[in-house]
Amino acid sequence: HLVSRKRDAFGRGRFDQQLVSRPVPLADIPRRFYRFGRPREDFRRLLLEQKFDIVLVQTVMTYWYVGVREVVDDVRELQPHAKVILGGVYATLCPAHAASLGADQVVRGLDLKPLGLPLSEGLPFWEGADREVGVLKITEGCPFRCTYCSVPLIYPNFAARPLDVCLEELRHLARLGARHVAFYDDALLFKADRILLPFLEAILRENLNLSFHTPNALNARFVTPELARLMVRAGFKTFFLGFESSAYAWQRKTGGKVYSQEFADAVRTLRQAGAGLITAYVIIGHPDSEEQNVEASIRFAAEQGTRVMLSEFAPIPGTPDGESCRASTDLCEPLNHNKTAFTLRLLGEETVNRLKGLARGTA
Ligand code: SF4
Repeated sequence: HLVSRKRDAFGRGRFDQQLVSRPVPLADIPRRFYRFGRPREDFRRLLLEQKFDIVLVQTVMTYWYVGVREVVDDVRELQPHAKVILGGVYATLCPAHAASLGADQVVRGLDLKPLGLPLSEGLPFWEGADREVGVLKITEGCPFRCTYCSVPLIYPNFAARPLDVCLEELRHLARLGARHVAFYDDALLFKADRILLPFLEAILRENLNLSFHTPNALNARFVTPELARLMVRAGFKTFFLGFESSAYAWQRKTGGKVYSQEFADAVRTLRQAGAGLITAYVIIGHPDSEEQNVEASIRFAAEQGTRVMLSEFAPIPGTPDGESCRASTDLCEPLNHNKTAFTLRLLGEETVNRLKGLARGTA
């Protein structure tokens, strides 16, 4: 299992972790450095027990490449005949760096067909994962172009996944024993009349008795009374809204995904529909922090009656805001994209702790 035994009421728990030595580029960061997930020995044991012809490796955040390097090294040592193919977000955003890790091939982007592998179109292999919780995506990409976000670089277009395929994936999760399902969509509410609403109606007809969660953030602009009521009826238990800032000028110049009045209206609509737990994400460590005004943004969200969670900014190469940091940050070293490190370097420990305390007070 990928998370520890200790879970909250929604099946969430901290990842298992092992303390490892802090890499040199993060020597100035007063934080411990961990390897999250299964212990390395488990992985090495797997490589000793089974033979693999091809090993596909991927990771999401660019600054997690240290783990990718360990995986490639272990495969090279214990399965020297295997072909190692590296892909995913890190390989797409930092292809030159990814090419230095020793894989046989680095794949940029989403298209795996050129690999010529017999890739399955079937159900995801959830049997190997934790059965109580699951994740699902019914769309890919996002129509917005927020200047701090890497989603448009990974998914150039927004598209719905076929409804029957998504439903079958959900049934599969339910059959395996899932009780909580988190939507990992980047724009779950976009074009809801054509995508999410029919999906929720199908869920209600099937009576699957699942609880749903939205940790990837919902766009408050698209919350309507009908949609909010249907989400609550279908079993949505937690609502995370991407707010980021209450400063109009900052909202506008970073892409205008949502404005303060829209956020306030969405919170009220969700409450009227019976939504219990509503959380607002507010960005911290953004290069335009002064204009963004974290403190005022936390207070504004709290005044609307939401809990606030701070999401630290990561300077992702290729994004306008990430590129604006290039003069002061060596973006060629992906460890410098680390959100905790970047935020601490920009704002200092005292300010970060004060703002985190303020956000905790909204819980
Ligand atoms: S709306 Fe969300 S997912 Fe879409 S570009 Fe903006 S931050 Fe990224």
